Amino acid sequence: MPDIVIVGGGLAGWRTAENLRRHDVTGRITIVSNEEPGPYDRPPLSKQILSGKLTLDDISLAKGDAFDAADVTWVTDVAVSLDPEAKRVTLKSGESLVGDAIVIATGTRARRLPFAAMDHCHVVRTASDASTLRERLISLDVPSRVVIIGGGFIGAEVATAARQHGHDVIVLEGQVRPLEGVLGTTVATWLQPLAGTAGVDLRVNQLVRDVTRGDDGTFDVATEAGTMTADVVVVGAGALVNTEWLHASGLDVTNGVAVDKHLLAAPGIYAAGDVARFWYHGEQTRIEHWQIANDHATYIAQHLAGRTTEEFSTLAYFWSDQYGAKIQMLGHPHRDDEVELVNGSLEANKWVAHYRRDGELTGVIALNNPRELILSRNLFSA
Ligand SMILES: Cc1cc2nc3c(=O)[nH]c(=O)nc-3n(C[C@H](O)[C@H](O)[C@H](O)COP(=O)(O)OP(=O)(O)OC[C@H]3O[C@@H](n4cnc5c(N)ncnc54)[C@H](O)[C@@H]3O)c2cc1C
Repeated sequence: MPDIVIVGGGLAGWRTAENLRRHDVTGRITIVSNEEPGPYDRPPLSKQILSGKLTLDDISLAKGDAFDAADVTWVTDVAVSLDPEAKRVTLKSGESLVGDAIVIATGTRARRLPFAAMDHCHVVRTASDASTLRERLISLDVPSRVVIIGGGFIGAEVATAARQHGHDVIVLEGQVRPLEGVLGTTVATWLQPLAGTAGVDLRVNQLVRDVTRGDDGTFDVATEAGTMTADVVVVGAGALVNTEWLHASGLDVTNGVAVDKHLLAAPGIYAAGDVARFWYHGEQTRIEHWQIANDHATYIAQHLAGRTTEEFSTLAYFWSDQYGAKIQMLGHPHRDDEVELVNGSLEANKWVAHYRRDGELTGVIALNNPRELILSRNLFSA
């Protein structure tokens, strides 16, 4: 039975290991993780962990006896290089791990911005980030001022949680509309009022030049429009893909690890989750969704166990809980695809819209309408 080395102990890495055992793969499975805690789920970090509804124990991916059942050797270290031919991963400690197959699942990390006080600003990517920010939000006098730089999905979710703690929240968005780059102008315009209804002060077209920290621990946030003070600053400026350790590997790591239709970057070398640039409906792309990481892991385990020779295929799914609303999306539309409202109304704050390109359905997005979204799955398989 093959020995498998998985680099990255997030959702994609952990689920690959779990699924390998489900397929009765009995070889040694080693997970190299640069994070101390065992595997955990990230979506709740900016939602229920920040708001205090869940604890870090609640979001473990290996509850009860799941860790023992997976029979995984968990190595807390940092992978620094990969030799794809020898299938050898070298670690920062100097140790090397050789497998019959390697799974690259190193995900992404929060983008940091070149602000003077960046080290004192918060980001939300890890369990430690989220618990530190939650402690800060709890320890502040209410209301204090929380400034969030970036109005994307994470920024909006953090803003929601900060409001729930009773703080005054300002979101500074650099673009004309938050989420426009991902969802297109029409849908971004429909979603824009949500922030206001949740009591969040969303300011668009605000390019932040610098953030500095005074002796009293408060911040000055400088934009082209002027300077505002803040008690807490959170930066939600997107993510960077963790591929630096692969730069000498000879693999194509331009915007993630390029993989073929079986999620292979080279013979015996798979990539999964946020780090993988895979084939999705005719184009090679990276999609940073929970469901994609989960489906990659399921597929890789099947492929490694010899249970499938089919190409990987999936229907992308994404959700976000922000400003008291639930946004869900099926598919992976382009921002300039045509949009049509097909169900509900903007006034009712409950609707479904379709994205189309050249007449073909590319995506379905729903606001506060999970039932209709689930029913829309059939439209893609037709
Ligand atoms: C705050 C937050 C909220 C989110 N909310 C949603 C949501 O609502 N809906 C949704 O669909 N998706 C959401 N996502 C995205 C989803 O969580 C990710 O798509 C998913 O976690 C990707 O899993 P992964 O295993 O590919 O990467 P990760 O979970 O990032 O795991 C990668 C792991 O590899 C480690 N690593 C990196 N480099 C090395 C190295 N050299 N050596 C060893 N280890 C290394 C990393 O530290 C990390 O532990 C959210 C993400 C975040 C951060």
